[in-house]
Amino acid sequence: MRNIEHFINGQSVAGTTGRYSDVFDPNTGKVQARVSRANAAELDLAVRSAAAAQPAWAAVNPQRRARVLMEFLRLLNLHKNELAELLASEHGKVVSDAHGDVLRGLEVIEFACGIPHLQKGEYTQGAGPRIDVYSAHQPLGVVAGVTPFNFPAMIPMWMFGPAIATGNAFILKPSERDPSVPVRLAELMIEAGLPPGILNVVHGDKEIVDAIVAHPTIKALSFVGSSDVAQSVYAAGAAQGKRVQCMGGAKNHGIVLPDADLDQVVADLMGAAYGSAGERCMALPVVVPVGDATAEALRAKLLPAIAALQVGVSSNPDAHYGPVVSAAHKARIESYIQLGVDEGAELVVDGRGLKVPGHEDGFFLAPTLFDHVTTSMKTYQEEIFGPVLQIVRAHSFEEALQLPSQHQYGNGVTIFTRSGDAAREFADRVEVGMVGINVPIPVPVAYHSFGGWKRSGFADLNQYGMDGVRFYTRTKTVTQRWPKGGEAIEQSFVIPTL
Ligand code: NAD
Repeated sequence: MRNIEHFINGQSVAGTTGRYSDVFDPNTGKVQARVSRANAAELDLAVRSAAAAQPAWAAVNPQRRARVLMEFLRLLNLHKNELAELLASEHGKVVSDAHGDVLRGLEVIEFACGIPHLQKGEYTQGAGPRIDVYSAHQPLGVVAGVTPFNFPAMIPMWMFGPAIATGNAFILKPSERDPSVPVRLAELMIEAGLPPGILNVVHGDKEIVDAIVAHPTIKALSFVGSSDVAQSVYAAGAAQGKRVQCMGGAKNHGIVLPDADLDQVVADLMGAAYGSAGERCMALPVVVPVGDATAEALRAKLLPAIAALQVGVSSNPDAHYGPVVSAAHKARIESYIQLGVDEGAELVVDGRGLKVPGHEDGFFLAPTLFDHVTTSMKTYQEEIFGPVLQIVRAHSFEEALQLPSQHQYGNGVTIFTRSGDAAREFADRVEVGMVGINVPIPVPVAYHSFGGWKRSGFADLNQYGMDGVRFYTRTKTVTQRWPKGGEAIEQSFVIPTL
């Protein structure tokens, strides 16, 4: 059995606890490796090496820090096929989509290469008599990130890119379900010239996340995962005085106004609802046609498009999507499908029971479609995170606007329309953090920033973009006065005003 080990101080470090999590190949349903689960002592080893290495890294001038990232970019491009295949073999997404996972992370590294400019402070000459004021954005020290299974390349890079560029040392706790790519990324960073200790990978589950939250040397924690865990990590981290950002689950709606181009909507929905087996926090699992005529026309066009979808193994270039990540997750999605039936929604296409020839034990699910889903149903209120699309019919723009606005999650939303007026009003009023207008998956580009509202994001600052730079730095403001010798010195008991 292959063991996947921690990566501490620039080298592989075998776990000592004797505790492991199985890493499956979702295509075959078989265990392909096991990953060590660290304890608090192993975390402490990583934190100590990070703390020892960080001051010298922070003292490296920002252009040289950026050059390490530039070399890392070159290595990422060189190894992207290997990374995508490794990623697909543990996650289950098709290799072409795994490339996207690597490349969306790479784009954040490209952004972080601009750190000499991005981290620059501000300066005011003559803020008062012989007084100048300047501010510097200094790294926090040792920071950590906890990442979910669904983007094992992109999300670690969202975090360690800006954190390391700004002069911090980073502890990454990746998902135990697909831990190999994060380790490979850390190896490539070392190959790119990063000093040992600046990027460490420590594996495990809740126990090690609790230890990260409690560790006094770790000054900031970025978390991405499901909302209940996000909320509890946010509360626990804040109680420890840490800077915390915790991104949670989602239930993104696609609003379809009667003037939308339905062929485009259906083409977009196939990828957005079913791509990556629906295991994306920016997937579009709820579609809201406005008016019964729009709903009927949309449903009629969805059926042949769904029938044409091919589900297959990750390495099959013709497959539109692959298996879900685990048997437990497959069973959970199936139980949501049954619940939808029991709650009274119309099961139009049932994706249960799919067997892929030669891969009968793989965690496959065919696409599922529900119609006449209502807001009182649990299957509407909760995140399913699988290849399940739900039609919720609305009768007016206002009703459609209220659905995502009143939902517990507020990650992404999209409106399909040809009316600029309607789109503008929707974007302005909707209570959701990331809005698409005729864009099915509105994940912001690397130089904007990513973050949902309500139970999708417990954070003041988003991931990447300038928010990422701010999250991993603290501002020091220096007010300096250089009096000219020989002037009269006066006492003052009044706070100076300008
Ligand atoms: P998860 O919450 O099960 O796990 C996320 C991370 O937290 C993992 O590293 C895991 O080991 C750890 N963890 C799990 N249980 C924990 C606990 N009780 N205490 C402390 N740590 C714990 O999430 P997942 O299944 O890996 O990922 C899917 C979820 O992530 C979905 O809800 C999805 O919407 C969400 N997600 C959100 C975003 C976003 O940016 N908003 C992006 C991707 C995924």
